[in-house]
Amino acid sequence: MLIDTHCHLTDAAMCDNLDGVLRRAADADVGQIICPTDDPADIPAALRTAEKYDNVFATIGIHPEHADADATEYLTDAVLNHPKVVGIGEIGLDYHYGADNRHAQIELFRAQLETARKHGLPVAIHTRDAEQDTAEILHGDVRGVMHCYTSGWDLAKKMLDRGFFFSASGILTFKNSDAVRETFSKIPIDRIVIETDGPYCAPVPHRGTSCEPFMVADTARVLAGIKGVGMPELAHILTENTYRLYPRMRRL
Ligand SMILES: [Zn+2]
Repeated sequence: MLIDTHCHLTDAAMCDNLDGVLRRAADADVGQIICPTDDPADIPAALRTAEKYDNVFATIGIHPEHADADATEYLTDAVLNHPKVVGIGEIGLDYHYGADNRHAQIELFRAQLETARKHGLPVAIHTRDAEQDTAEILHGDVRGVMHCYTSGWDLAKKMLDRGFFFSASGILTFKNSDAVRETFSKIPIDRIVIETDGPYCAPVPHRGTSCEPFMVADTARVLAGIKGVGMPELAHILTENTYRLYPRMRRL
């Protein structure tokens, strides 16, 4: 069994055909899926999806592209104590389209990290062109995963020291991703999980299509090659890693 640790099931590309999406996942032995939120408006839909499907869990968070949102309004005790909520995410920093709202992003990021500490929940971190600030702000007393990890070894080393996991997405399979494969070759196998980040980043050979959980198997095959282990062994290791990362998840 594989676990897709990060797939936006509430996205319009998937939510209208969720039964089909989840059936194709089950056929590919993708047994559990974690649905993150980025837009706070999606939180009710993420909770409903996790309630409806036994094998779907949620992480709740506000993405830096919604930096003006007030975390306390959405990350309430009631939401975070929901039995299917396993962490806080995706949260972080993104300066890719400019850093003019960097202060608002940092404030939102810090507020959500504080909430994670208070609740003892792991975090799923998004970081893009903001590695230095991310490393400075994530200092020690919170743990979690660097989601869709494409940053270099420098940040990886720092975050390994702080107990973080690293999630490989379909980008690992792209032809021009030698640097990402190199980084994952160095990350210890017991700190890796996988994800689709659907509907984005469909792996080879599905590029250009809407990415769904079943495709996480293609990323896993490339990772197995990088790590020099067979698929059954890799699947077992990744599953155990996911349960260590998200202790609130129920085993299948
Ligand atoms: Zn995402």
